[in-house]
Amino acid sequence: MTPMRRHRMIKIVATLGPSSSSYDMIRALFEAGADVFRLNMSHGTHDEIAARHAIIRQVEQDLGRPIAILADLQGPKLRVGVFAEGAVEVQEGQDFRLDLDDAPGDAHRVNLPHPEIFRALNENANLLVNDGKIRLRVVKCGPDFADCKVIVGGTISNRKGVNVPDVVLPLAALSPKDRTDLEFVCNLGVDWLALSFVQRASDVTEARELAQERAAILSKIEKPAAVKAFDEILEVSDGIMVARGDLGVELPVQNLPPIQKRLIRRARAVGKPVIVATQMLESMIESPVPTRAEVSDVATAIYEGADAVMLSAESAAGSYPIEAVTTMSNVAIEVESDPTYIEIIDASRKVDHTSIADGIVSAARELAEKTDIAAICCFTESGTTAYLVARERPHVPIIAITPILPVARRLSLVWGVHCETVTGDVERFKKAVINAVRVALKYGFATESDQILVTAGIPFNQPGTTNILRVAPCAEHLIMKGEPE
Ligand code: PGA
Ligand code: MN
Repeated sequence: MTPMRRHRMIKIVATLGPSSSSYDMIRALFEAGADVFRLNMSHGTHDEIAARHAIIRQVEQDLGRPIAILADLQGPKLRVGVFAEGAVEVQEGQDFRLDLDDAPGDAHRVNLPHPEIFRALNENANLLVNDGKIRLRVVKCGPDFADCKVIVGGTISNRKGVNVPDVVLPLAALSPKDRTDLEFVCNLGVDWLALSFVQRASDVTEARELAQERAAILSKIEKPAAVKAFDEILEVSDGIMVARGDLGVELPVQNLPPIQKRLIRRARAVGKPVIVATQMLESMIESPVPTRAEVSDVATAIYEGADAVMLSAESAAGSYPIEAVTTMSNVAIEVESDPTYIEIIDASRKVDHTSIADGIVSAARELAEKTDIAAICCFTESGTTAYLVARERPHVPIIAITPILPVARRLSLVWGVHCETVTGDVERFKKAVINAVRVALKYGFATESDQILVTAGIPFNQPGTTNILRVAPCAEHLIMKGEPE
């Protein structure tokens, strides 16, 4: 039997939560198509996070495929506290109080554990709760409370987010909770660290210093300030998330599509992964089928060449996590086989070819397009060659072979990359080509009559030296088949 591989290029990020914390569910999500699991530090205790982390690593071991774990720090996000009943329904016109009392909330009040906000608030300020679905207006406020009128009602549940678009808030890059969480997840061992509410490049460098290379840094773009400073933020980040939930509250929603397109293009141009997130299949929290508009939204992100699409509550707290992952996967397979998709991807490729490495990967893509090549295989110790090949958005599968498991895990987020770890002698290029052919055949990326391309940087252990491109007919490299690895 051919071992498990994906039949699509875009990756799927699934957030874990109460609906998806058992071994069986996490394994089923991976089997349905989730390539990356997101641990949302805004929800769940450290024990729960550690338990999910351990399960993911177990699934990885049991299925023999690298899996990326993305820990998403809450950031300086304002959130209400908890309710005695878990949630309340507020009605238009009623009074509702936010205060510093950490007792569980009810239909008339709830905790808002941010003293600095009460100091900055003023009368008539709007408070938007739960991605802007509920609107409260401040009638009266003091240093430890805000009495509000409900302007738009709805359900508020535990720890829902609060945005205050009219007030400039003095927010630090990382809260004390973020620092504790960062240390906790880096010690557990995560592959990507997502930073919420980044406002400037220095927020990213600050987190990078704390992470000390234990995880790659992904900046969530969800503030108007981050959109403005995007180029500088991109420069110091390893990846980007178009975090449409908060962005669509902080800015008019109609601004989102052009911003999404621009951010994806810029991240693609520099070969850094970009995730499109939030409300992608929102209705599937409660329904086993998506709306047409949601399917179209997922498709749009794929046509734009994003590296990954993300599920939030759909997989974390919804009733149909597997169906949501399956839907994304099915949409991807359909879109990626559309000839128009290939035209769009080719037309949106904007890469400056200035280095030898750029030239090699570009040549690999052109060869693969113009001749009969089944896959592009790259050997990588740092991941660099694989990021470069992915940036080209080639029409054939990309296989990344690395001796370093954390590199394989990190690359699981990247467009089109199938990662495989190898052990033993990886020093010799000849051996590397044989390994490449073996992996291509093992997963059905190529047959014995195909040829594949192999790229690498020689000598092997110097990052960023992609300098070799070999055409390898699979059949010729099978003589070694019976030999031990
Ligand atoms: P969140 O981030 O789910 O942590 O709020 C994503 C977003 O805002 O879109
Ligand atoms: Mn957010």
